[in-house]
Amino acid sequence: MIVMKFGGTSVGTTESIDGVAKIVAAAVERQAGGAEGEADQSGESPGVLVVVSAMGGVTNTLIDAAQAAAAGDETPYRDARSQLLVRHQVVAGQLIEDGVERAGLGRLFDNRLREFERLCRSITVLGELTQRGLDVVSGVGERLSAPLLAAVLRANGVNSQFVDAGELIITDDQFGNANPLMEATPARCRDRLLPMMQSGVVPVVTGFVGATEKGVPTTLGRGGSDYSAAILGAALDADEIQIWTDVDGVMTADPRIVETAQSMEELSYEEVAELAYYGAKVLHPKTVTPAVESKIPLRVLNTFNPSHPGTRIVEKTHQLHHGVKAITAVRELRLITVAGRGMIGVPGIAARTFDAVARQRANVLMISQGSSEQSICFVVPEAEGDAVVGALKVEFARELAQNMIEEISHQPDIVIVAVIGAGMKGTPGIAARVFNALGERNINVIAIAQGSSEANISLVVLQTEADEALRAIHDTFELGNGAD
Ligand code: ADP
Ligand code: ASP
Ligand code: MG
Repeated sequence: MIVMKFGGTSVGTTESIDGVAKIVAAAVERQAGGAEGEADQSGESPGVLVVVSAMGGVTNTLIDAAQAAAAGDETPYRDARSQLLVRHQVVAGQLIEDGVERAGLGRLFDNRLREFERLCRSITVLGELTQRGLDVVSGVGERLSAPLLAAVLRANGVNSQFVDAGELIITDDQFGNANPLMEATPARCRDRLLPMMQSGVVPVVTGFVGATEKGVPTTLGRGGSDYSAAILGAALDADEIQIWTDVDGVMTADPRIVETAQSMEELSYEEVAELAYYGAKVLHPKTVTPAVESKIPLRVLNTFNPSHPGTRIVEKTHQLHHGVKAITAVRELRLITVAGRGMIGVPGIAARTFDAVARQRANVLMISQGSSEQSICFVVPEAEGDAVVGALKVEFARELAQNMIEEISHQPDIVIVAVIGAGMKGTPGIAARVFNALGERNINVIAIAQGSSEANISLVVLQTEADEALRAIHDTFELGNGAD
C-alpha cells in the first residue's frame, strides 16, 4: 500500500491536476497488478491512498482575506469567494464530463465558499481573528481540492472517494500547529480507510487539516500536508510514503537560489530531518517523525517529471559519502546575545536565559557559547525577537543594574545556513573549508554551532550575504550539476 501526497504546486492548474490523475491511475494499476503477482511474495498489501493540498496559492488567499476581514476590509473575502469558485469550477468543467458529477461538485464548492464568507463576515463583526477561527478558514482550500481531485479520478476510471481528515487525524487544540493524538488517530484511520481500500476504493484525503476530539477543526501548520501523509502512512503501515512536488526530489540546495543544485538519489531520515528543520521547504519538518518510527521509506518525486526516480529517504543510505551533501537556510531570524564579565563561572545564567525564552514560547534554533563564558548567543524567529529581549531584560534586571551583565543585544535580519551530511561525522576539515569559502568572498560568519550528531554545521550570517554564502559553500563542495 502506498500513500501519494500531491502538494499545492502539483494541483495548481487544470493541466497539472490532469497529470496527477494520470499518475494516480498508473499507480493504482501497478498496485492491482502487483497484488495478483509478485507483491504476494513480498507480503505487501495493495492499495493507494491520496493526500492532497489546496490548489497553489489558495491557502494564502484565504488567510489574507480573513486577516483583512478582522481589520474591517470586506472586499478581499468577497473577491476570494468568487475567484475560488470560478477557479475550482473551471477545472471541474474541463476535466469532468459527467453533468451530474459536475453539478454535485458545483454545489459542494458553493456551500463551502458560502460558509467561508459567513465566517469572514463574523470575523469582521467581531473585529478579531482567533487562531481557532483562522484554522477553520485556512482549511477550506483542502476541503475544495480533495473532492475535486476525487471526482477527476473517477472521471479517469479510478474508483475514488473524498475523505475529510477531520474524521481521521485527531489532534490537540494547539490551533495553527496542532499535534496528532497518537492513540485516537491510527484507530480512526484504520477503521475508516481500510474497509474502503479493501473494497478497491482510492480515498482522497484533505492534507493540512485535522480536528480535536470534539470535532473542532485544526491545522497542522503551514506546509503541513506532507505531515498529514506521513501520519496516515504510519497509521496504515504503508509500504512507502510518496511526496509529489514540483522538483526532481530533495536537492543539494534550494534550486531557486542555487542554480546548479541537483537532486539526490538517497538520503537518510536524519539528513532529511536536518534539512527540513533548517528551512528546505520541500518537506515539512515534522514529516520525518512518523516515517522513522514506523520505518516507512519516504520518496520525493516530481509531478511534472514522473519518470524521474526522485529521492528515496531511508534509515541508512547505501552510498558511502564523505562529507557535505546539501545546504539550506532559515531566514527572518534574530540573534540575541547576553554578555558580561559577571557571567564567568556563575552557574545558572544559561538556565535562567532559556527559562525566560521558554516562557515566551519562543523557538530557539541555535545556541552558541564561547569557551570564555563571557557571552551566550542564540537565534530565535524575528517575530518572537522583541518578546524574548523584553523577557531577558526583566529576568536580568538586577545583573544589568550591577553591570554583571553588560548588555542584552540583538541583531535582526539574520539567517542560519546549515551544512548537512551524515558523512561529515569523522571527516576532518569540513568547518575549515566552509570558513575558507566564505572568507574568500568576504562573508562574515557571526556565529557557528555543530549538533552532536555531527550531521549538521550551522552558521549565522547576515540576510544580505546569505544567498552568496549558500552558493559559495555549494561550489566549494562541488555539490552542483556535473559533480559526482
Ligand atoms: P508543494 O506545493 O509540493 O508542497 P513546496 O513549495 O512546499 O511544494 O516545496 C517544494 C519547493 O521547495 C521547491 O519548488 C523548491 O523551490 C523548494 N526547496 C527549497 N529547498 C529545497 C531542496 N533542498 N530541495 C528541493 N526543493 C527545495
Ligand atoms: N495548503 C497548506 C499550506 O499552504 C498545506 C500544504 O500546502 O502543505 O500551507
Ligand atoms: Mg509543501
